[in-house]
Amino acid sequence: MKQKQLFIVLTAILMVCMSLHAKGHREMMVREREMIVKEEVCGFGNPADRIENTQNIHIDTDFFGGNIIVERTSSTSTQYYEIFFNDTISIRPDLRDTEGDWFYWCFRVSGAADQTFHFEFPGKYLGSFGPAYSNDNGKTWHWLYNKVQKKLNDFSFTFGEDDHEVYFCIAPLYTQADFDRFISQYESNPYISKHSLTISEKGRNVEEIHISHPQKRPKYKAVITCRHHACEMTASYALEGLISAVLDEPDYEWLRQNVDFLIVPFVDKDGVEEGDQGKNRRPHDHNRDYSGESIYKSTKALRERILQWSDGKLKVALDMHCPVLSGRWHENIHFVGFNEKKPDNEQQKYVNILYKRQKGELRMNPENFILAYGTDWNVPSTWSNGNFFREWVSTVEGISLATSLELPYANNEGQMVTPQNARLFGKDLADTIQFYMQESMK
Ligand SMILES: [Zn+2]
Repeated sequence: MKQKQLFIVLTAILMVCMSLHAKGHREMMVREREMIVKEEVCGFGNPADRIENTQNIHIDTDFFGGNIIVERTSSTSTQYYEIFFNDTISIRPDLRDTEGDWFYWCFRVSGAADQTFHFEFPGKYLGSFGPAYSNDNGKTWHWLYNKVQKKLNDFSFTFGEDDHEVYFCIAPLYTQADFDRFISQYESNPYISKHSLTISEKGRNVEEIHISHPQKRPKYKAVITCRHHACEMTASYALEGLISAVLDEPDYEWLRQNVDFLIVPFVDKDGVEEGDQGKNRRPHDHNRDYSGESIYKSTKALRERILQWSDGKLKVALDMHCPVLSGRWHENIHFVGFNEKKPDNEQQKYVNILYKRQKGELRMNPENFILAYGTDWNVPSTWSNGNFFREWVSTVEGISLATSLELPYANNEGQMVTPQNARLFGKDLADTIQFYMQESMK
């Protein structure tokens, strides 16, 4: 009996010693790591720097579309408090020349295989399906969650053993390389031609794409613009679907026979490539640059090009956008109502056709077709900072429909928005342009 008691006491003493030793060791490691982090924090201000924390995790933005500021790392995660090391990374979007706040961010993580990290934002900077991520160098993207989430300011990610490099973004990233990859399949297509609209402020080619019958003169013309706001990448996937439908689908032979399309895939090319917010850029953004003299090269060139090219035949102008990340109107596909100076009749006609004919997965809700003037953000103060492209183009001689689409980044009334179904929605947009033109011109 005595021997047994002695054994229990000795075992207990041994366990306490081991625990104290382990605690001391952990504290020492945490202290060491904190010291290293403190030294490295100085470098965090420059988002282009490759940032290293103490577990060899690297976060960087050294790619097209990259954008993040790492504020600090810490071991105070409430979700992983049992882990003593720096598992929590506080990040925020790099606003650059944005007036006020905005939410675009995109970064790459390496050196985190087989570990779990927790990423925290200072506010709601995630869409309802969490971050989009890609572990194949941006070829395919996934949303982190399958169901709509309410918690929009942080996420945890467990990196698999082969996840040596993972991209995280507010939504599936789309830059020039994606468009080049897409459009290269049409290189020998006789209906399509590529031109330069202008050279951007930072020396990049801002392309304009024409789709027109190689022999016939067009009866009508249509202009499609995208990325007036650099960060609104989901619209680019829909644009791909629209272009493919016009070029490939037997159903749209009428468009190929009768309509000349002018398409500008990246109005704010520098913003897209550099990972800018673009929205609310100071002194005003590209889509508020249509009052008086335009200050950006692309918007100035676009105005000149449209006036010279339209020839009284421009019937449809569609400007493609994404709204804010979450909230009532921002999680519904919708079009933007004109102010009191113009009726919404033609927009309404277009949207009614779209609703009736659409075949893609992403559905429109009849209650949310058009964000009427005076509702939500569509109020006088929004209009005071300069004319939208849509307002300007609606004054071009002969035009019947000038419209502005808002396609959600992530969530369309509970439907997950993906590159695939956004492309199908783009096809529905092309279908509606054909039907609208045929109906209107009868
Ligand atoms: Zn926009």
